[in-house]
Amino acid sequence: MHVEHADGEKFCCPECDRQLACYDHVSERRWRHLDTMQYRTILHAKPPRVKCPEHGVKQVNLPWAEKNSRFTVFFEQFAIAVLLATQTVQGAAGILRTSWDETWHIVKKVVARVKARKTDTVVQRIGIDKKAFRKGQNYITLIYDLDRSTVEVISDGNDTEAGNARFSQLSQSQRDGVEAIAMDISAAYVKAAKASIPLADTKIVHARFHVMKLSTEAADKVRRGEHRKLDAEGDKRLSRTRYLWLSSQEKLSEHQRERFDAVYTQQLEIGKAWAYKEMLRALWHHDDSASETVYFRDWYKRVIHTKLTPLKKVAKTIAERLANVVSYCTHRITNAVAESMNSKIMSIKRRVGGYRYRENFKTAVYFYRGGLNLYPH
Ligand SMILES: [Zn+2]
Repeated sequence: MHVEHADGEKFCCPECDRQLACYDHVSERRWRHLDTMQYRTILHAKPPRVKCPEHGVKQVNLPWAEKNSRFTVFFEQFAIAVLLATQTVQGAAGILRTSWDETWHIVKKVVARVKARKTDTVVQRIGIDKKAFRKGQNYITLIYDLDRSTVEVISDGNDTEAGNARFSQLSQSQRDGVEAIAMDISAAYVKAAKASIPLADTKIVHARFHVMKLSTEAADKVRRGEHRKLDAEGDKRLSRTRYLWLSSQEKLSEHQRERFDAVYTQQLEIGKAWAYKEMLRALWHHDDSASETVYFRDWYKRVIHTKLTPLKKVAKTIAERLANVVSYCTHRITNAVAESMNSKIMSIKRRVGGYRYRENFKTAVYFYRGGLNLYPH
């Protein structure tokens, strides 16, 4: 489809909107438009230029496309809808009849545009969490909006500096507006929050998910140590039992349940560690921080007199940060968003594919999980 304009048509200077006669045209350009009768439709036009007395010779804005785009606005809007519906770049490319690179280019462009106009909206309840970009290394840190379940900010690393970098991407009024922050018991994030968020000490909640993860990992360490010892003596009782100790009881099948009971009743170290770990779960059944504190102190006293070194270490860590564990009763936030986001982000990695580069991965997370208004206008 070839587009031309009438003779004598006037155009606006893109800088000052002054109406001017056409000065000349640049060479022909092409834009992919929505299909016509299922035929791929390409718009051809020579964009006019004006000569503004103030701004010089300028190419005018075209009503059908954004600057430097190879697609019309209509096509781009459709592409966004398809990308969201299919949730994959490959799938969208198939329907749109675009290449992977062209389709990915739209994702990148959309995210850049939305980030540029990002508003000052205050997010009252945030979560901060790290995520391994590749297994066991290359961390990125994410800040979530806990109420909207969206990713607000992403940056590289998982240390204090990374935390600082993250918080500094929020404006001052956004930082002032934060009322509660869910995070794991990591000194790095605590330090970063204290540096950026006013009165952070009263706002930090070490969410149950993170605390239970620590104690589960400790119990697993106990199991590994004990298994090594038993195995050396030819005792295979703890072989292939990891799953039994890590899963919640409801998830075990009847057969697994029987195996669990058989090992549990044998008075092994792991049995004790497991029981303490499960006992800790009840901490979040209390209604106020005072009774939570009492419960924890009692739990702590029991654990600290055992020989379960990994668990004792966790007990000490929690005791040091206890005020920000029981602050749950004040703020009632969990990092459930971070938990569910983990799997959502993993699935983005799987479905969208092709992320050898961290920047591309971050772009995809913003596009699919950023809760952004992706459309042009
Ligand atoms: Zn002008």
